[in-house]
Order: sequence, then C-alpha cells, then structure tokens
Amino acid sequence: MPELPEVEVTRRGVAPHLTGKTVSQVILRRDGLRWPFPPDLPALLTGQRILATGRRGKYLLLHFPHGCVLIHLGMSGHLRVLHKDVLPAKHDHIDIVIGDMALRMTDPRRFGAVLWHAATDGDIEEHLLLRQLGVEPLEPGFSAELLYRETRQRTAPVKQVLLAGDIVVGVGNIYASESLFKAGINPKTSAKRISLARYTLLADAIRVTLAAAIEQGGSTLKDFLGVDGQSGYFQQSYFVYDRTGEACRICGQAIRQIRQGQRSSFYCAKCQK
Ligand SMILES: [Zn+2]
Repeated sequence: MPELPEVEVTRRGVAPHLTGKTVSQVILRRDGLRWPFPPDLPALLTGQRILATGRRGKYLLLHFPHGCVLIHLGMSGHLRVLHKDVLPAKHDHIDIVIGDMALRMTDPRRFGAVLWHAATDGDIEEHLLLRQLGVEPLEPGFSAELLYRETRQRTAPVKQVLLAGDIVVGVGNIYASESLFKAGINPKTSAKRISLARYTLLADAIRVTLAAAIEQGGSTLKDFLGVDGQSGYFQQSYFVYDRTGEACRICGQAIRQIRQGQRSSFYCAKCQK
C-alpha cells in the first residue's frame, strides 16, 4: 500500500510534467473507483492550467485556478506520465492529457479516488477528507511537544495513536513500526505514559525514517516515466517491519509480531521498552 513517502515521491516524479501545463483532454474509462469520478471532470479541466502540485497526508493535489483535483492511490494505485498514444491496459482508469503526454492512473484494486474541489467551496484544507488530518510530519508544525501535549489523555498504545493520523499524518504501519524501534519505544506502551524526552527521540525517528524513505524512493523516479514502469513502490531494508522471527539488527533477539487494532506490529522486546 502506498504510504506518505510513496505519495511524495510520486508527486515529485510527476510534478515537472504537470506544473504550468494546460490540460488538453481528460479520459475517464470507468465511472469511478472507490467513489464515482466527477462526471463533469473533463469539462472542468480541459483548457485549464495546472498551477502547482501538492500533497496533504496521502492525498496528491493538482491545483487549478478554479479548484483542486484530489488523488488518492488507495491500496494499489499508481501514477505515470507517458505518451498519450500508449494503449491503456486493463487497470488504467483515467488519463489527464497534457499535449503529447498523459498522466495515467492505474489501480487494479480500485480503492483509489479522484475528486474535485471547487475554489468556490472554500480552501482545500477545509475539504471533508483533509480537515481532520493531523500535522505533516516533515513540516515545522510537527514536534515532540505536539506529540506530548496531544497524548496526555490518550491511554491507547502509542502505535495506534500514531496510526490514527489525527495528531500527525502519514505515519503508517511500516513507518510507525520502524520509528518506534529507532526511538526504543515498545509499540504497546500507552501514549500518555511516554515522557517528553522519549517523544523527542520518537519525533526525530519519524522525521528521519520518512525523509530517508523519500530519498530512497527518489532513485526510482525514472519509473514514473515510460510504458514499462511499474512505478516504484520501493522495497527498503527494515529494522523490524515484516521481520517476524528474524534477528534484531542491534541485539540479535528475535523480532516479535503482535496484532494491534487489526494491524500487525513488529518490535524487539529487548530494544524497545
Ligand atoms: Zn533488539
């Protein structure tokens, strides 16, 4: 599943091909994915200029003078920029054509979304899907103090509080597991029992882990262009994620796996307290 780094790498990959360009055609090959496509999207976008790209949580944003397209990649979606005449494959659902090129969305499992938010409906940050989101982990608003302050009443395990996304967005299952390992915090620890000093380690670990993933993904940028690119959801080497039973890279003890709120958590019982 694409997490924040994959979405940000996607944004950086497609942005140079979109920013400042005018949409010449929009091709919808089905009625929608998770939700219906706006049926008037072709009329809304054709002839309009993309001012900028953006990202909020796992939503990719295409800013137009009169509104904003929100794209969510769901479980299996990805975006590529290719020549508009490349024949679409089975799971290619939408093309936003710009000159000779097309931004093409592929989504085999169809949990993704493409939505329109008109400027007349207010700031995009106030969109129903965005306004509940916590702060961006790579922006200055994210800090140990924020984590500490917002968890004083939260008895839930810290891992689940991170995943909830209402304090900080984009720390999904992989990056929560990895960040808690680096900070030496057991994922089962109640969020309200963690000190500011330990949240300082955790906030640093979250920033470093996400930034490293984005940097690593940057090396797959070429995959966002061209016809063969199964554009890069990059495999990384993890400390704990998906390593059940394998030796901890620090102490050698076997990595444990538990279930927390329907999700798997991975941790080292010796390194994480
Ligand atoms: Zn260990």
